Amino acid sequence: MAEYEHYIDGEWVAGDGEDFESVNPATGETLGTFPRGTEAEVERAVAAATEAFEEWRGLSYIDRAEYLWEIYHELRERHQELGEIVTKECGKEISEGKADVTEAWHMVEWAAGNARHPHGDIVPSEIAAKDAYMRRKPRGVVGCITPWNFPVAIPFWHMAVTLVEGNTVVWKPAEQTPWCGQVIAEMFDDTGIPDGVFNLVQGYGEAGAALVDSDVDTVLFTGSAEVGHSVNQQVAEVPDKNVSCEMGGKNAIVITEEADLDVAVHAAVMSSFKTTGQRCVSSERLIVHTDVYDEFKERFVDLAERVAVGDPLDPETFMGPVADESQVEKFHRYNDLAQTEGGTVLVDRAELDEGEIPDGHEDGHWVGPFVYEIDYDPELRCLKEEVFGPHVALVEYDGDVDRAIEIHNDVPYGLAGAIVSEDYRQINRYRDRGEVGLAYGNLPCIGAEVQLPFGGVKKSGVGAPAAREVIEAVTTRTAWTLNNAKDIVMAQGLSADITTQQD
Ligand code: NAD
Repeated sequence: MAEYEHYIDGEWVAGDGEDFESVNPATGETLGTFPRGTEAEVERAVAAATEAFEEWRGLSYIDRAEYLWEIYHELRERHQELGEIVTKECGKEISEGKADVTEAWHMVEWAAGNARHPHGDIVPSEIAAKDAYMRRKPRGVVGCITPWNFPVAIPFWHMAVTLVEGNTVVWKPAEQTPWCGQVIAEMFDDTGIPDGVFNLVQGYGEAGAALVDSDVDTVLFTGSAEVGHSVNQQVAEVPDKNVSCEMGGKNAIVITEEADLDVAVHAAVMSSFKTTGQRCVSSERLIVHTDVYDEFKERFVDLAERVAVGDPLDPETFMGPVADESQVEKFHRYNDLAQTEGGTVLVDRAELDEGEIPDGHEDGHWVGPFVYEIDYDPELRCLKEEVFGPHVALVEYDGDVDRAIEIHNDVPYGLAGAIVSEDYRQINRYRDRGEVGLAYGNLPCIGAEVQLPFGGVKKSGVGAPAAREVIEAVTTRTAWTLNNAKDIVMAQGLSADITTQQD
């Protein structure tokens, strides 16, 4: 079994801490051994990134982007191989494993292409002789902390723009997906990027916490709300340190009395069960108008009973395993809670039958769809807390679309959501009143593209460490004004006369 290392200052570095293993969640097979990063190793990486910053910021945007273009080509050339690594390490079925890699190269393409686009603004001045601009400077060293569910795409959401803008990086991948981290570090090494510009420290939450605590100038975090909010608070106490966090959601789809039910059922199954419900944008609530409720329920339940759970490397599989045992335990805990809170179970494949688990996969972390119906009540925890699994509530509503939107918005999160309706007035009402960062009409609420802003409201996000918005997080703005005249003339009619005392 392969033993891997950290990547610090252009070198592979054996860790001083304990080792940990990456385990295939579908089979229980060990995929590799990795060093558990320590505070000292994080500090060493941050020191290397600090040292490398001056030289890196001195390159042009276009020269910096050249290293990213190398990675873009490698991601494309190794698509199948890397897609399989993603699937083996985090359990997503193979089309999703490959889509993770595709999304990564889309982000790299966006960031590297953007190197040739204008940066900043030319701003008019009140004074004709003045040229005024908004210019950007890199912030310095950026600490990136990423989750396991998009182990190739999200690191590039964080790092591609960050590097092109002239920052250096220390990255801590999720402990569930260190092998993906290793492959990405190998790619950076292959490009010959200057030592210290990109650094990888493997490990658990304590390495992430050490990175947040270190001398980095900006922290980009994507993960759970629980960790993200503590990271946010920790950084807020330090002047001149910046943080952006993308966190979870309790996302919903509204299906009105005007919905095309073919679209509604398709969108709901995709949103609730793709990635075994483990997308930050997965839908755990389906809010359905009473006029179409019974028909929708029958059709959704029928499909949930038949969704193919199995070997994620088999192209016929729709749902692979969940990531680890803690996810299995959390899923069951919330299924129990839903029943305690009054839910009626419609589909219970939470524990798969023996025959449903593929041969050789008995040690995997298997669950199937769990669907229930429940009367809306603002006090219900099962309608408010993120489960991160194929756990879905059907909630019936009566009245106009505003009632559905009220239920939809009654959660502490605000990441993604969708409406299914053939009535443009209902659709536009949802677009304008739905409290989410990513909203869809007649579509699943998953599947964002990299050129769109990605970020949540309420408890789902602070800043946006994703897509083009990351530029704000990793640069500072300078309002730069140059006088082209010999005289000094001030704005707002301010006198430029200097009155001196006469002898
Ligand atoms: P997590 O919060 O447990 O871990 C995320 C990362 O934070 C990991 O690298 C982890 O090691 C690190 N970490 C843990 N404790 C830390 C600490 N005290 N200080 C600093 N870093 C620490 O999340 P996860 O289980 O890996 O991912 C699932 C969660 O991520 C879900 O809630 C999901 O909704 C969310 N997510 C959000 C987005 C988004 O863009 N909004 C995208 C994907 C996943």
